[in-house]
Amino acid sequence: MAITAPDRTGTVTLTIDGHEVTAAEGSTIFQAAKAAGVDIPVLCHDERYDPVGVCRMCVVDVGAPAFAASCVRACENGMDVKTATPELERSRAVLTEMLLSDQPGREHDPKQATTGDNELLALADRFGVTPDALPRAFGRGTDLSSPVIAVDHDACILCDRCVRACDDIQGNDVIGRSGKGYATRIAFDLNDPMGNSSCVSCGECVAACPTGALTNKPIRTIPIRPRTELDAVDTVCPYCGVGCALTYYVDREHNAISFAEGREQPGSHGRLCVKGRYGWDYAASPQRLTTPLIRREASYPKGALSADVSGEMTGGAPQERRRRRKPGGLVDYAEVLPHFREATWDEALDLVARRLTEIHAVGGPAAIAGFGSAKCSNEEAYLFQKLIRTGFHTNNVDHCTRLCHASSVAALFEGIGSGAVSTTYGDVINADVAIVTGSNSTANHPVASSFFKQARRLGTTIIYVDPRADKMADHADIYCQLKPGTDVAFYNGIMHEIIRLDLVDHDYIATRTSGYEALARTVRNYPPERAEQISGIPADVIRRVARVWGEAGAGVIFWGMGISQHTTGTDNARCLIALCAITGNIGRPGSGLHPLRGQNNVQGASDMGLIPMFYPDYAKADDPGVKARFEQAWGTSDLDPKRGLTVTEIIGSALKGGVRGMYMLGENPFLSDPNINKVRKALAALEFLVVQDIFLTETAEFADVILPASSYLEKDGTYTNTDRRVQLGHKVLDSPGQARLDWQVVQDIANRIGLGWDYGSPREVFDEMVSVIPSYANLSYDNLGKTGKLYPNPDPEHGDGTVVMFGDRFNTNDGLAHLVPAEWLPAKELPSEEYPFVLNTGRMLEHWHTGSMTRRSYALDAIAPKALVFVHPDDAAALGLADGDLARVTSRRGSIELEVKVSHREARGNCFIPFHFREAAANLLTIDEIDPFGKIPEFKFCAVRIEPGRIEPVDA
Ligand code: SF4
Ligand code: SF4
Repeated sequence: MAITAPDRTGTVTLTIDGHEVTAAEGSTIFQAAKAAGVDIPVLCHDERYDPVGVCRMCVVDVGAPAFAASCVRACENGMDVKTATPELERSRAVLTEMLLSDQPGREHDPKQATTGDNELLALADRFGVTPDALPRAFGRGTDLSSPVIAVDHDACILCDRCVRACDDIQGNDVIGRSGKGYATRIAFDLNDPMGNSSCVSCGECVAACPTGALTNKPIRTIPIRPRTELDAVDTVCPYCGVGCALTYYVDREHNAISFAEGREQPGSHGRLCVKGRYGWDYAASPQRLTTPLIRREASYPKGALSADVSGEMTGGAPQERRRRRKPGGLVDYAEVLPHFREATWDEALDLVARRLTEIHAVGGPAAIAGFGSAKCSNEEAYLFQKLIRTGFHTNNVDHCTRLCHASSVAALFEGIGSGAVSTTYGDVINADVAIVTGSNSTANHPVASSFFKQARRLGTTIIYVDPRADKMADHADIYCQLKPGTDVAFYNGIMHEIIRLDLVDHDYIATRTSGYEALARTVRNYPPERAEQISGIPADVIRRVARVWGEAGAGVIFWGMGISQHTTGTDNARCLIALCAITGNIGRPGSGLHPLRGQNNVQGASDMGLIPMFYPDYAKADDPGVKARFEQAWGTSDLDPKRGLTVTEIIGSALKGGVRGMYMLGENPFLSDPNINKVRKALAALEFLVVQDIFLTETAEFADVILPASSYLEKDGTYTNTDRRVQLGHKVLDSPGQARLDWQVVQDIANRIGLGWDYGSPREVFDEMVSVIPSYANLSYDNLGKTGKLYPNPDPEHGDGTVVMFGDRFNTNDGLAHLVPAEWLPAKELPSEEYPFVLNTGRMLEHWHTGSMTRRSYALDAIAPKALVFVHPDDAAALGLADGDLARVTSRRGSIELEVKVSHREARGNCFIPFHFREAAANLLTIDEIDPFGKIPEFKFCAVRIEPGRIEPVDA
């Protein structure tokens, strides 16, 4: 989206090619002509970027001595514009000829040869220029160093579209220019090879380039072909909660995606990150599960079947257990598959239904649990929780929201009566100040972070608060590198100062909140000097943040798992809610609360009731009225009257023999849950485990039955993003082998245990969902359209939905925001002499969760192939470690070895390990202490020791 000038109310009237045209004051001639249906050719201009007017292709005759560039020249009253005189056409033809004079030939142009998208060659056709007859001088070179993008400097016309795409749209600031005269060319950083530069492979520059200078490389061996030969399927990115709209161009002959492109939608404006643009080939991996599998008798007792994260064989036939350490990270199919035999779908489903029913009959509802998936669609999440609840009469159903924003949701429900965001991330454009806290957003929500960076360019003050100096710190006006686990003290210090300076909104506090006095009493004990002692942020900086926030007309807070994944996660979020509420910053444009959701459908899965304490739409599971309502809606009479167990509680229960049968749909707790040693014992202790997934995950190694599922790319369904935007995802590819659609498999199991379901399609499931989820009222497959709709939405036929919520009242019983004070508490496991470092865990830009998809994506694996521990340069030097050295990281729970990445983004005494890598599983180190309210684990803080690693011999 172009960065536009502020709205002007006036209009101007002019003549374009003899027709009178009225345009908004400040619009350019190009905009006015386009609105009037007049086509003016352009090259350097793209409406998504600020115009620069350098190529002169769009010149028009305004009656002045020189032609005017229509992309920059503003309309004036009475102006007489001619857009296509013979002189203008001649000028454009000459310009085209000159630009083509040093271009590679048509047959050598990769963009023309592949997608057929070369805009310069299209102009050559339009003006009858035959470039192949022209003499050429080449020599500016190529750059093939990026795994995903090819650079041909000879095809570059220096239009700067890529520069503006990289700087102004994505905010990555990688591309500039180098050289003089004919040697001038685009440059990455300090003229580095693209693959060695700070480029994050978002591909925005490729999408912007009008010639063949920047082109996508084929992913694996799948050729890029002209889009006219391919099927275009509009859908949504399968990775993060931003939910970027995209189009896959599909080669039907090979049942394969050729390339992906961003598509206009209010929350992404055609942008993508590296995962969305290049990370889709996992679905075509030869490692896809294609047949139902049943564990062989000889492969009991159960356990991990291939070399596990500590290098120990713990399961399988006894003679195969031996010490080994293998390179690489994915489950070893050659070791695991022999422990299973192929089965028919009927045999596998009969076994699943029989064993779960038997366990339920003996152990009762408490013996059964289900983990659903935030990667699945709303329809699948809805059916899965309905199956567990109506089929096994238990609320023991949960998913990865427990590991993500459970504490944020707990605080939001308590505070404002709703767990969803109060405004969209795009609303940051209306904020005077935005706090981004506990969020590595350039890696975890890259396209949302581009909105933050763009807002700052337009004047929003960005305050970034995080123990790691993520790239957002480079784009912040104020950066606070607080000590891990000190958020409550820091935000209490800010509120102390806001109250002392009387920057609170008294009217808002009086009419929209309760509990202010208790809050004020608590934060009185956190003067900035005390907050400094605890958080490490200088008192003066705390005072400055307080003043900037308190004096702003509109302020919004975005937070990530650096806030939620603590034993004090709910307290952390309570502070953010209070900070917004005491300054009147909820319910107006540019203000509010936005926990950035992790998975593509974690918002939707939670809305669907895939959580143990809530039925769909957050109806309380332990409320008798709610129970009666759902019993009537679902035609049953024995729903569980109490809350179920959470993810971590289910693991604990399995260890003690409580939960004995589990249905695991698309979750991989072996790698994603804290303290893996405990998780693996729990999985091995289960009497029966059915895993439904697209790959053989670490968790599937413990399964009794494995069901081959469909990937995201193979099904229709809806997905709800972090903004509350419900979007339609469409089938792109056929499923491989016997892999089946998840909702159909869930229905087959439901029917085998006697539930008598008869859903014919996801659309039918959606209609039932809407009937029991008032928040989704009025939405239907027919009105979601190409860009989806925000909920709540009173009129989806005509409106996009509600951006800003809680303008008049909150969803609490009394309509007020309940302010809940929080006292700072230290983390549960502090550094000691033996374990002197604080370990923080999280994600990398290129990888997703347990890596089962991204590590099977050629491009993503090529860019980020290995596990790393990020260490401050001074700490690394003190430990005698350099970039690329092997380090051993040890906590009280285990030890892993991985490569050192010396990083100035860490603070001294802290280290960071991404949790995607089985061969160096960060969660072998983490503790399983949980927040008492949200029951979320402490992924962001435990004590570790770092020392030089030991390289062990690899067994043959
Ligand atoms: S791929 Fe993205 S980050 Fe890299 S140069 Fe292009 S626009 Fe910039
Ligand atoms: S920002 Fe998120 S939704 Fe958008 S392309 Fe990247 S991973 Fe996909």
